Amino acid sequence: MRVMKFGGTSVGKPERMHQVSQLITRDDEPTIVVLSALSGTTNSLVEISNCLSSGDNEGATAKTEALEKHYQQFIIDLIKSPELLSKAQDVLKEHFEFLRITQRVSLSDALNKDILAQGELMSTKLFSLYLEQEKIEHALIPALEFMKLDINEEPDLVLIEEKIKVVLAHHPSKKLFITQGYICRNVKGEVDNLKRGGSDYTASLIAAAVKATVCEIWTDIDGMHNNDPRVVDKTVAIEQLSFDEAAELAYFGAKILHPTCIWPAQQENIPVKLLNTMQPTAAGTVIKKEAGSVGVKAVAAKDGIIAIKIKSSRMLLAYGFLRKIFEVFEKYKTPIDMITTSEVAVSVTIDTDEHLNEIIAELSNIASIEVERAQTIVSIVGNEIAKTDAILKKLFDAIEEVPVTMVSYGGSHHNISLLIPSTFKTKTLQLVNKGLFNL
Ligand code: ADP
Ligand code: ASP
Ligand code: MG
Repeated sequence: MRVMKFGGTSVGKPERMHQVSQLITRDDEPTIVVLSALSGTTNSLVEISNCLSSGDNEGATAKTEALEKHYQQFIIDLIKSPELLSKAQDVLKEHFEFLRITQRVSLSDALNKDILAQGELMSTKLFSLYLEQEKIEHALIPALEFMKLDINEEPDLVLIEEKIKVVLAHHPSKKLFITQGYICRNVKGEVDNLKRGGSDYTASLIAAAVKATVCEIWTDIDGMHNNDPRVVDKTVAIEQLSFDEAAELAYFGAKILHPTCIWPAQQENIPVKLLNTMQPTAAGTVIKKEAGSVGVKAVAAKDGIIAIKIKSSRMLLAYGFLRKIFEVFEKYKTPIDMITTSEVAVSVTIDTDEHLNEIIAELSNIASIEVERAQTIVSIVGNEIAKTDAILKKLFDAIEEVPVTMVSYGGSHHNISLLIPSTFKTKTLQLVNKGLFNL
């Protein structure tokens, strides 16, 4: 079994859906296809939901109408058979009617998640109708029947494996399955999601659940590049990454992959390939156990970081002080990304201010606290990076003009992380591109 995931731009136009239909039928290998919502749809749904939560129902209605118009044109261009076009119209009617109903009731967290789920539900149903038109045998399998979260709101891989087997067994004669990325159910049975960009995570979870031979992530670029192509002009695709390297890059901001999507594939040792729907013959990037070459491979940047400096000259060297600090973060389920210590202070970074006030209040009982917002973590990732010739010298020579506020090195063999003010992000990525990659 193979898993193939196609992102928003890969299904965002009727002709792209045609390309996808060709890619998924390139041979006879049984395949589970995971689809995102059409590009732009989840952003629109977030906007609709934001309008509703701020009481702007007129805004929500206007945005819903604009989205519906886009889909009406989309199906006219996609489906030529009158009978199937009428079915596609029914699909739109069902989902847009649901969106209109949400504008007449009060918005809850659960309803908000339901709104966000509409994109993937529509893209898969429309693609399934397109496949029917093209006479391509397949089964549409609902992710909401098998993609489950556990009590900690994390994917429950054991349950997913159990449930997907049952769902697949309903279609013994089929070899091609279409399902939704991103959406799932939580322990309360409500519709939930795997956070933005979560379709990659769906693909990796399914790959692990069915012990797939490969997990292919098809997107709009020919693999993981050495630097963020949205920020830097010259970037190059990386041939091979280890699971750990890819996980660090995804977690520290390489948008091509969802931050935590590597672990399920890694757990089952399933290679993940990053491929370009628009250029299917390009080699792309393969992510597997082995790192391939030694040395620096890529840099990524994660914005929205908050640095917290915890100062206590009296307590720091006392054992138990770090535990007390970590317990506060644990209590508020807030992961720490970077940490550095000195004689009198501990500095940590977090990527959410959800519980910042409570965290500061509790830490203030044991130390004095300084908070710095609008920070960016720049992560340099590679294999045996410490063995790379004069790596630290090269790096700091390259970014001489950047005010680095924290450095983390030695935590793993494949990462150097720097904390910088976000205003220096573009400059830093450009300087690293020159200094470390000669680009
Ligand atoms: P999809 O909709 O297919 O999931 P995404 O937009 O989530 O696609 O991810 C692909 C985009 O990620 C690329 O178009 C590119 O702009 C961006 N990106 C950011 N960093 C990197 C990187 N290091 N390598 C490749 N792409 C990157
Ligand atoms: N549609 C969702 C999003 O835009 C999930 C995904 O595309 O991966 O975030
Ligand atoms: Mg994505």
